[in-house]
Parts: sequence; structure tokens; C-alpha cells
Amino acid sequence: MEPFDLAIIGGGAAGFMTAITAAENGVKRIIILEGSAKLMEKVRISGGGRCNITNATWIPNELVENYPRGGVRLLESFNRFAAGDVFEWFEKRGLNLKIEEDQRVFPVSNSSLDVIDCLRKSALSKNVEILTKFFVKEIIKTPNNLFNIFSLKRKKVISQNIIISTGGNPSGYKLAQNLGHSIVKPVPSLFTFSTKEPNLSECSGVSIKDIDIEIRLNTKTFKNRGDLLITHLGFSGPAILKLSSVAAREIFNQNYKFNLIIKWSVLGYEELKEKINYLRLNKGKVNLINSRPVPLLTKRLWIFLLNKIGISKEKKWANLIADERDKIINILIRDKYIISGKGPFGEEFVTSGGVKINEVNFKSMESLICPGLFFSGEVLDIDGITGGFNFQHCWTSGWIAGRAVSKLNNKVTNQ
Ligand SMILES: Cc1cc2nc3c(=O)[nH]c(=O)nc-3n(C[C@H](O)[C@H](O)[C@H](O)COP(=O)(O)OP(=O)(O)OC[C@H]3O[C@@H](n4cnc5c(N)ncnc54)[C@H](O)[C@@H]3O)c2cc1C
Repeated sequence: MEPFDLAIIGGGAAGFMTAITAAENGVKRIIILEGSAKLMEKVRISGGGRCNITNATWIPNELVENYPRGGVRLLESFNRFAAGDVFEWFEKRGLNLKIEEDQRVFPVSNSSLDVIDCLRKSALSKNVEILTKFFVKEIIKTPNNLFNIFSLKRKKVISQNIIISTGGNPSGYKLAQNLGHSIVKPVPSLFTFSTKEPNLSECSGVSIKDIDIEIRLNTKTFKNRGDLLITHLGFSGPAILKLSSVAAREIFNQNYKFNLIIKWSVLGYEELKEKINYLRLNKGKVNLINSRPVPLLTKRLWIFLLNKIGISKEKKWANLIADERDKIINILIRDKYIISGKGPFGEEFVTSGGVKINEVNFKSMESLICPGLFFSGEVLDIDGITGGFNFQHCWTSGWIAGRAVSKLNNKVTNQ
């Protein structure tokens, strides 16, 4: 059996980008080994079925700021292949893209199936072989520097080079470990917060723009400002997802139990006091429910907050006593929720942790421990916040690895 030039473990976004790049740069014998029966399943479900391919953050220095883990090392990679390159890459291969108001990039068709189709066709047109239901169980490097790759059923594939692109699947970490790599303990990132707060579910679906939130975990405080969404289980939306990403490890260490502070108003104590005093004097006959001190709050949320502090929504502003006024101010500037766990499945869930990045050469994505072994995608200890940044890392690392394998391969062919 003639060895492959490159065997790719994992048929996801990163694996396909690696395969296509290597093939388009002259690598002849490439095989993708996918454990399941389906290719690019996460691409299919991503972005609510629309696939948020990347983010229109064109400048590498700004792009790296969206990665709580891997940032500085990634700069080197993004200086070679960043969001603009990804945009061009897909358009050149016939997939038209659009940029939405919040900078997220999607296919014009709003269908992730078109992304899959583009990647699959690009790979097949370059004769990349694809084997599904080949779950890699073991990789052994032979004394003559070939990799023997064994499936669960002990089928064997031999290759000169391999790339592990197994995403957050534990098997990928094990394969990397057996080839000498260290793994940063994987923990979830990008998740929603659950709470048992009574009656909050009555506000399910309420979304509020530009809210300041804060969590305190042991001695560390994490803050963020962004859009917040109340769900039937607790809190979600970009503000929460970003905080869950930035503090992923600390939240894990606290077993997903902590306090969330929400600041419903940008105004401080004195300003709110002035506003409420104005309402007491000028709208005295109006019920609290019919005039909100913070217009941004929806009626449902305002009723919930009044309920939470035990003030009747039917009360007239003129009858509000000083103690009640202070209760309102306090809940508007520091509303506390006991978070009891993470939501079942985030809109965009990724793994934080994975193959230690200081054991990988970022110029090539090749292992510094085991020559001929490469990595791309989520298997590495790199993850981004929500907004297309996780796929961006898959495309970038896959592209760099594919190019590096082609350079190695061309060297061997020319000798
Ligand atoms: C619901 C959801 C929505 C998301 N939406 C977005 C989004 O819109 N934008 C964004 O940027 N990110 C999004 N993400 C994150 C993004 O999907 C991942 O970061 C990305 O898919 C990782 O790609 P990957 O190729 O590294 O790994 P994966 O996509 O996980 O692919 C790995 C592949 O390897 C296979 N595999 C694993 N182990 C083995 C083995 N031992 N042998 C053979 N095959 C193996 C798996 O079956 C899988 O097909 C979303 C994630 C989720 C869960």
C-alpha cells in the first residue's frame, strides 16, 4: 500500500480547509478520515443553520482581541491569512458572502449547506479521498517516519504526514497525547447562564441592548457590556456568551455557581434619584407600571423587577416612599442573580483547552515534538468569542497547515 502524503483526522471545517489548501498547492495523495457518517456536521448546524463563516474584522491586531485564548500566538497566523482572505477564498470558489450590521459574515443564501457544498466540491475537484466511518483510535509512528493510522475496527491507513483536526472530541486529545503532546484540560466555553430566580421566565424573550454585566469569581471580577437576552432558563445573548468565554475556566472551577450582577441603567445613584424625584413630582398620579425611569426596560421586565423588590406595579409615583425609591435605584444599578449552572447547549458552543499551543510551530502548525504531525482547528487550545471567530481560526490554521505540508511535500518530490 503506497502511503498517503497527508492523512487528515477529522472531516470538519479545519480538516477540509487543510485538505483543500494542501491539494491546491500540489500535494497529490490526501485522505480525510472522518469518524462519523457525516462530514462537516458542525458547519451544518452552525449559526442557526446559516453558518457565520467569519467576522468582518479585517485588521489582524483587532481580530486577535476576540480570542480569550491564543491571542498573541494567533497574530502571527492572522498576519498571513485573516478574515479578508477567508472572505475572498470562499467568493473565489463560488460562495457569495454578505456582511451583516454586526460584522458577522454569512453566505448570501443564508444556508450552511452551501458552505459545506463549496468545501466538499473544492476537495473532490482536487481528488482528495474521503473515508467516513473511519474513527481513528490509534496512531503509531514507525522508525522510517511514517504514520500508521488505525481505525476502531483496526483498519489501517499509512501516511507521510498527518493532521489532527478532531475539534473538541476527546479522542483527538488522546491521539495527540500518545504522540507526546500535553493537553490543557478542556472545559466548555460560550454557554448561557441558568438561574432558578422565581418568575424570571415571564420575561423570556426580552432582549435589551448595551447592558453592563459583571461576575465575581473568587478574587477575580469579569465585566462586559453588550446585548442581553432573557430565556426561559436564565440569561443569554452576546454579553453573556462573551463573558462565559472570557471566564470559561474560572466558571468551570466554581462548578458553574456564581453571582451575576446586571446594571439595567447606565445612570448612577444620584442621577436615578433625580429622575425618580422628577416622576414623583410631575407624574405623581401615574402608576409605576405606566412610566419607567429607564425607558430601555420593557414593560414585562419592569414589572418583574418591581415584583422582585416587593413594590406594587399599581402604586402611584406620588406615593413612593424614600425606602422604596432606594430599592428601585439599587435594583437598576446592581441587580443580583444566583447562577446555578450553564445552559444545556449554547447557540455557539466551543471547547476551551486542548493541545498546548507552545508545543506547536505557528508558522506551519507542525508539532514541535513529533515531526510530520500537524494540528488545525478547535483541537488546539485556542477559542474565540461568538461572531464567526471560531471558524476563522479553523480556516486560518487549516490554510497554514495545508501550505506547510505542501512545502514539505514539494521538497521531497524535488529531491
Ligand atoms: C451549535 C453550534 C453553532 C456554532 N456556530 C458557529 C458559528 O456560526 N460560527 C463560528 O465561528 N463557530 C460556530 N461554532 C463553533 C464551530 O462550529 C467550531 O469551532 C468548529 O466547527 C470547529 O471545527 P473543527 O474542524 O476544528 O472541529 P469539528 O467541526 O468538531 O470537526 C471535527 C471532526 O472530526 C471528527 N472526529 C473527531 N474525532 C475523530 C476521530 N478520532 N477519528 C476520526 N474523526 C474524528 C468529528 O466527527 C468531526 O467531524 C458553533 C458550534 C456549535 C456547537
